[in-house]
Amino acid sequence: MRRSVVSAALRAQPCLRRSYSTVLEGSAVAAAGNAAPPPPAAASSVVPSEVLKRAVEATAPRNDWTKEEIRAIYNTGLMELTFAAASIHRRFHDPTKLQLCTLHNIKTGGCSEDCSYCSQSSRHKTGLKATPLVSVETVLSAAKVAKENGSTRFCLGAAWRDMRGRKSGLRNIKEMVSGIRGMGMEVCVTLGMVDAAQAQELKAAGLTAYNHNVDTSREFYPTVITTRSYDERLATIQNVRDAGINVCSGGILGLGEKPEDHIGLIYTLSTLPEHPESVPINALVPIKGTPLADNKPLPFTSILRTVATARCVMPDSIVRLAAGRITMKEEEQAMCFLAGANAVFTGERMLTTDCSGWDEDKSMMDRWGLSPMKSFSKGQC
Ligand code: SF4
Repeated sequence: MRRSVVSAALRAQPCLRRSYSTVLEGSAVAAAGNAAPPPPAAASSVVPSEVLKRAVEATAPRNDWTKEEIRAIYNTGLMELTFAAASIHRRFHDPTKLQLCTLHNIKTGGCSEDCSYCSQSSRHKTGLKATPLVSVETVLSAAKVAKENGSTRFCLGAAWRDMRGRKSGLRNIKEMVSGIRGMGMEVCVTLGMVDAAQAQELKAAGLTAYNHNVDTSREFYPTVITTRSYDERLATIQNVRDAGINVCSGGILGLGEKPEDHIGLIYTLSTLPEHPESVPINALVPIKGTPLADNKPLPFTSILRTVATARCVMPDSIVRLAAGRITMKEEEQAMCFLAGANAVFTGERMLTTDCSGWDEDKSMMDRWGLSPMKSFSKGQC
């Protein structure tokens, strides 16, 4: 289905079918007039590797990536990598569209997990007050406000390890999901681990997507979380996939990891049987009282490099700039949009951190010629 959509788009816009090398040649000719001189010797160092060239010429996602291939892309010169990612982005997506999502915390704090970045873990002294599950009415009225402000996707987050023994909670969440779908919005939830039966119940209620991040590489993961394993995360993702719900899974940058862990994160996601339809890239917001409170922010170039690599390796996924976007300058965000990020969280809050607001984001989008993506435009069911 996705292949045919991409092929149809390419047939409809033949100019988008240019090969990567043609784009480069075209640029050189345009710069030099009709008599283009041979490229200077130094230019050979920015000729994309074969693996990048193959990524740029791909017409469908592939999930047989090797770490070496992803490493070769990740380590490409940043301008060249950004250009390649932008070229791929145009072939699989409308580069003028940005998906606007709003995240709503439906159950704050008191979580039994020990995720070292999270203010909602009961193991960290962050001063966050735990609250019970909010009412269905509260959620539906927040979704209405988000829709009126232009958001097309509404995401619900609960600070839970899993859904075991939460029958009434699940019942209320299903009501929230159906109500939000009834407004014509996409709806995503993040509730911790779910089993196959719970995933099927959420699907029957109309859930569009389930968020469950793998957070980082398999190798670095045990230094971030000890209370559930990487494989448990992957099992929840599989339960979600088996239920026919779209998968939202990505990671957090700035946890103290190395560049190799960005490569490992992308390797995990891109070698799943199907790529996640949504790949959130978060930048750590250090929170007082958590073990990572004193982490230094990553250079922006690391974030851009990760976004661009994710776009090259998972060309059809929505790449989402998530937590930490508020710390980026507008020009930095624009570079990420150029490199293939095509969704943001907007509104009053992320789960427990600040978020760029609707008005601010609308002004930014106007300045850069971006407009909101319609609901379900990537074929989500
Ligand atoms: S499972 Fe979620 S809410 Fe709980 S500590 Fe980890 S990130 Fe925070």
